[in-house]
Amino acid sequence: MMAEKVAVVTGASRGIGREIAKTLAVQGALVIVNYNGSAGKAAEVIEEIKRAGGKGEALKCDVSDFEKAGELFDYVVKTYGRVDILVNNAGITKDGLLMRMSEEDFDSVIRTNLKGAFHCMRHVARQMIRQKSGRIINISSVSGVLGNAGQINYAASKAGIIGMTKSAARELASRGITVNAVAPGFINTDMTEVLPDKVKEGAAAQIPMGMFGDTRDVADAVAFLASDQARYITGQVLCVDGGMAM
Ligand code: NDP
Repeated sequence: MMAEKVAVVTGASRGIGREIAKTLAVQGALVIVNYNGSAGKAAEVIEEIKRAGGKGEALKCDVSDFEKAGELFDYVVKTYGRVDILVNNAGITKDGLLMRMSEEDFDSVIRTNLKGAFHCMRHVARQMIRQKSGRIINISSVSGVLGNAGQINYAASKAGIIGMTKSAARELASRGITVNAVAPGFINTDMTEVLPDKVKEGAAAQIPMGMFGDTRDVADAVAFLASDQARYITGQVLCVDGGMAM
């Protein structure tokens, strides 16, 4: 269990991040529910956590802003004294085919998904090194493992997360810090809800298990990697995708 642990989950106001935050809180961690635009939804997550007997605080921060991300971690360390778990989950999509993709759409997805994760790792590393312990879990995607037509920006950000995870894992292993990635396949959230039915049917046909996953499936994998049971696992990419990327 995770009593006394402090966890920061980015993009925890909705979808997968919300489920991860609730799962870590149920296991005893004090959870910082980071959000950017959805203040009301983040407050709901905290209410749910507290109703279930857990602890947490909602904190607004646009993780794509290096300075703001630094302020987030300064606040957490000053207020709670430590950071044991960082889950880099915040992510966006701006899909489009290569021939039509604007530079702006490419840059904004890289800025949030890839640089956002870098910013948070960069700011949390000092504290985790001081503690001589920590767990970092970066949310990648099956798109980063296999590539996906219409997602060159997103796939680049998620493949980048994998390279960054393995590099950070090598740098931090001797400091008692593990760094792993979880690569979800198609999971039912707001992000996949907006896909046209035809795309959803096409996607389901590529999944050996024949169906989309649930946010719980991802949250349980993250909770395992954040737990003491996973102490000897680092630099790995755990696909939670119904068999898509085997
Ligand atoms: P949602 O669109 O449901 O939620 C995205 C979350 O990210 C929201 O809480 C949002 O916060 C937050 N967010 C977005 N931009 C920022 C930012 N700049 N700073 C802080 N928070 C931000 O997405 P999912 O739950 O579906 O996805 C979560 C993660 O899982 C993403 O990294 C995604 O790429 C990945 N993933 C999802 C898959 C799926 O099928 N759903 C498949 C593979 C990977 P707010 O609303 O407050 O702005």
